[in-house]
Amino acid sequence: MSPDFLPFTRPSIDESTIQAVSEVLRSGWITSGPKVREFEAALSKRYGGRPVRVLNSASAALELALRLCRIGPGDDVLTTPLSWVGTANAILAVGATPVFVDADPATRNIDLDRLEAAVTQKTRAVIPVDLAGLPVDRDRLYSFAGRHGLRVIEDAAQSMGANWKGREIGCSGDLVAISFQANKNLTTAEGGCLVVNTEDEASLLEKLRLQGVTRFADGGMEVDVLGGKSNLTDIAAVMGLLQLPGLDRLNERRRALAKRYFERWDEELGCELPPADFEQSNWHMFQPLLPLDRMTIGRGEFIDRMKAKKIGVGVHYPAMHLFALYRSLGFRQGQYPAAEKIGRSTVTLPLYPAMTDADVDRVCQAVSEVLHPVIAR
Ligand SMILES: *Cc1c(COP(=O)(O)O)cnc(C)c1O
Repeated sequence: MSPDFLPFTRPSIDESTIQAVSEVLRSGWITSGPKVREFEAALSKRYGGRPVRVLNSASAALELALRLCRIGPGDDVLTTPLSWVGTANAILAVGATPVFVDADPATRNIDLDRLEAAVTQKTRAVIPVDLAGLPVDRDRLYSFAGRHGLRVIEDAAQSMGANWKGREIGCSGDLVAISFQANKNLTTAEGGCLVVNTEDEASLLEKLRLQGVTRFADGGMEVDVLGGKSNLTDIAAVMGLLQLPGLDRLNERRRALAKRYFERWDEELGCELPPADFEQSNWHMFQPLLPLDRMTIGRGEFIDRMKAKKIGVGVHYPAMHLFALYRSLGFRQGQYPAAEKIGRSTVTLPLYPAMTDADVDRVCQAVSEVLHPVIAR
């Protein structure tokens, strides 16, 4: 890739992290071990002492959270159609039924005004998603869940380091799933964690992540529940451990870059920008909506023309109820119009801590150059 190509994201891995990974590789213990325990302790400290267990992905965290809640066949789980498909796949994986609730056109997160109408006798839980790192309103969410006796499994895969009214996501609430996948604000290449409420939940989670096994001091073991294989390696854990102290600084840089996007953005283009929240969001992504109705080219062509200007553009995400798997379950076009419109027109522009202010200016300039000639007036 040419050196002046700007990808839509890029992980921030410093030399000390690379050094620490080499040390683990040389140590003779590379899978789950002391670094996993240290990383869990550091995360738990960050989240106000709540128990935290690391896993090989946030997908596993979501699925195991559902299993911790004993949610399965016959149960409904509310969620948004506008997320990485892993969110709803976790619901299918445990045999439960995803019930989508349309997105709020302003926040692009689950529409809290529509939750009430989606509840039935079968509803057991809600999985809200902090899309692009913008937190769902936790006050309204938990008052809704409390009224209906629902579990909340926060898909905070994208919102590590974000906060709701000054309180960091993960420090409160019910179960909170966070991702350390390569594109996320803190990364272990692949990985994730689940913040739980009690030591009982934590020890069940430990069993669920490793074949249901409990080991005893005398070398014996017992298996009393069916678990899978979702443990994190020490190679990955040490990456997270080394990045954790710098996360807030990296997120600050993302906020500053996002702010610059707003300052430099050409308003005449008629794109819809995300909420300008520089207090709570961790700015995992910067996503304008293209004014497709007024454009003479489609999103694919926009992406190609940006690429020709050496700028990477992503799509996160198409509304997932329109995927073939979900259509086969009965979901149809037109059911969630707000999510569908956002899913059709969203583009993810470059935003990551190593970008310079001039990089943001270059992206804004390129967007103007690509869009101006193709917008009908
Ligand atoms: C990345 C992501 C996931 C899945 O995380 P993995 O660690 O890749 O399994 C789930 N939900 C959302 C919203 C995500 O962005």
